[in-house]
Amino acid sequence: MKILVAASEAFPFCKTGGLGDVAGALAQVFARAEGNEVALFLPRYRNIGGGAFSFKAVGGSFLIPIGGRMETATLSHVQWGKVSVYFVENQKYFDRPGIYRTAYGDFEDNDERFTFFTRAVLEGAKFIGFKPDVIHCHDWQTALLPAYLRTSYKIDSFYAKTATVFTIHNIAYQGMFGRDTFLKAGFDWTDFTPEKLEFYGGINFLKAGITMADTVTTVSPTYAAEIQHLPDFGKGLEGVLRHRSADLFGIINGIDEEIWDPATDTFIERGYDFKSYTRGKAACKKALQEECGLEQDKNLVLAGVVSRLDSQKGLDLVLETVPGFLENMQLVVLGVGDPALTEGFKRLAAANPGRVYFKPGFDEGFAHKIYAGTDIFLMPSRFEPCGLSQMISMRYGSLPVVTRTGGLKDTVNYNGEPKDSNGFAIDAPEAGQLRSIMGHIVSMFKWRDLWTSMVKNAMKGDYSWNRSAADYLRLFSIAWQKKQL
Ligand code: ADP
Repeated sequence: MKILVAASEAFPFCKTGGLGDVAGALAQVFARAEGNEVALFLPRYRNIGGGAFSFKAVGGSFLIPIGGRMETATLSHVQWGKVSVYFVENQKYFDRPGIYRTAYGDFEDNDERFTFFTRAVLEGAKFIGFKPDVIHCHDWQTALLPAYLRTSYKIDSFYAKTATVFTIHNIAYQGMFGRDTFLKAGFDWTDFTPEKLEFYGGINFLKAGITMADTVTTVSPTYAAEIQHLPDFGKGLEGVLRHRSADLFGIINGIDEEIWDPATDTFIERGYDFKSYTRGKAACKKALQEECGLEQDKNLVLAGVVSRLDSQKGLDLVLETVPGFLENMQLVVLGVGDPALTEGFKRLAAANPGRVYFKPGFDEGFAHKIYAGTDIFLMPSRFEPCGLSQMISMRYGSLPVVTRTGGLKDTVNYNGEPKDSNGFAIDAPEAGQLRSIMGHIVSMFKWRDLWTSMVKNAMKGDYSWNRSAADYLRLFSIAWQKKQL
């Protein structure tokens, strides 16, 4: 199958968050499956991949209509394993510091930048003669692509048999703009209806992807249900999503099992797998306690947090609850973001030396040490489309403590029976519930056999991309078959 992946970011070229990890990983796993040919299209931002890649210009250029003008697009190419990566170039739109924003807010022309990119993907694929069976788009930045195929490109024979699949990574970001953006994008007024592209008098890119793609996916089955049925989760699009219910699927993300492997991890004190877990975890825990200036006591439950400091993650509940447990528990937090949460963790650490350590900032190596050195990992999120940290912590035998929401509910099993559980879960992000489960954790930690049986379940889980890639490929094939009728 010929698969075109269109995204505004993909690791290792450009990344601001989970979308980048997922788009890059998926392009690679699709390409590894027998019989697939994958072209990944990305904007050519300034300093792509920190200069680690050598770009080959694709000769020639083509024009993209935007707001009654013509803008020029050129392409460059990088071969990345089996994936052909094409970068859409236009200095005015992409050669600037930053991907989406400056320190003061979003770029004011983001509507135009990503409309241009989306159309340039469609024209670019034609330009290089890559006729896709399926186009996989991600998030609002590329969400207009399915809309173009159903409108301006409806009679274009090149795309007559191409199916579109649109993936929502976080519905909180929708790409909402005014009427002028609708016009600039070149759509016809007949498509300015609530069933199609109109949204409260303007255009909502994410909605366009939802209404116009052949298949819609999001990053976990529970999140797929939540965004359709709970207004707090659907962020105004729950009705639109329910309308597409039959074509909406939740597919859980994977983690990179080479980067996140406690057996081969070079950041951590001592590598371990399940068989050597007891000794490996003890060594990593001791090293982490030492590095953080915490009391070196193996009988204390060492809890960890590696996170964006954002109200989404429920860390205010951690601040509220943990002080009551510090007789039997220690806490290490790594995170950056919200100033109030930052201040809260700073104060907690200052008031409890030997028990709480806080490191503000983003630190890949220290994150590995936390996953490896802790006994539990705290993630009582208010919502969580998928979540990667809970899967990483399970792989490292640090039992996650989560809320039953989104991808957390789909990956962490807890029914009170250690032999069936791989972590701990509460029903709602409430301090009372967190307190109650922490009490349970502290007493259970003394029962080593029960604890180890949970760790075994956690470490032996399959968090690889292979599983999810197979689900995507199945959906691609169904969407494509429907197009051939
Ligand atoms: P989200 O995408 O909502 O931030 P996820 O759980 O899906 O949350 O992914 C978070 C990823 O970012 C994990 O790989 C986690 O280890 C990493 N991460 C988050 N904060 C930090 C940090 N301060 N330093 C290093 N890694 C971090």
